[in-house]
Amino acid sequence: MTKGFSMKTVIITGSSSGIGLGIAENFATAGYNIVLNGLGKAEELEATRARVAALGSGEVIFHGANMLKPDEIDDLVKTTEAKFGGVDVLVPNAGIQHVEKIEDFPVAKWDAIIGINLSSAFHLVRAAMPIMKKQASGRIIAIASAHALVASPYKSAYVAAKHGILGLMKTVALEGAEFGITANAICPGYVETPLVTGQIADTAKARNMTEEQVINEVILKAQPTKQFVTVEQIAALALYLASDQAAQITGAALPMDGGWTAQ
Ligand code: NAD
Repeated sequence: MTKGFSMKTVIITGSSSGIGLGIAENFATAGYNIVLNGLGKAEELEATRARVAALGSGEVIFHGANMLKPDEIDDLVKTTEAKFGGVDVLVPNAGIQHVEKIEDFPVAKWDAIIGINLSSAFHLVRAAMPIMKKQASGRIIAIASAHALVASPYKSAYVAAKHGILGLMKTVALEGAEFGITANAICPGYVETPLVTGQIADTAKARNMTEEQVINEVILKAQPTKQFVTVEQIAALALYLASDQAAQITGAALPMDGGWTAQ
């Protein structure tokens, strides 16, 4: 394939690490142009960009939009359209977590989680929808969570934001249905991203348990398979949702949670 010719373009927010990065790697391998986004040190972000670019024939750029800033989110989408001539796939993925009792939950953390995990997706879709309508095609694939379907204590902001993003995807699915635009939410259970790995070691120390005990008795208590979901599994589902074969999957919550939400 010639670079830039009839090549599809995907924007993935929060793709400097974890699930977003895995999705970027999979789409890059499949030949997409990629717009990476996320926080991090400039040299590390450039190294990541170059590594992802080496995987496929598409072009890979980085845009540092802060998901708390609607103007920067708008610029992310506009820059993508100007550079690649469209936005075929949008993956709202950036997210943060904070775990605390609701009466002690810091208001600033509530605002940040609602802002990054939910409102940023609204701003992204708001900016991308006219482009996708013009193309008469588009795929919006939000990385939600099992917490879009069920709750856990002490995660009020996260659970509220994730339930909210599912409602947003359902609404966008209806608005996009006659324009060839689908909108879905992937709902992963626990995924072993660098963030979670750090928590395992800390929890083991704090509770005087082995890391294996922490994984089975604390983290994966809710997940019947007692196995983590992998980044690669989520990335494969995302690429499938972007394919022609998935054209009739829209407005759906797709759990990938080892049976968590079946209980
Ligand atoms: P991660 O911490 O590895 O990645 C989060 C990404 O978001 C990073 O690239 C980070 O730079 C970016 N980010 C954070 N704040 C940002 C901001 N203000 N502006 C722009 N980018 C920002 O975490 P992850 O586990 O890969 O999580 C990715 C998504 O998957 C999140 O929405 C998370 O809620 C969801 N998820 C994770 C799990 C899990 O167990 N790890 C499970 C279900 C859902």
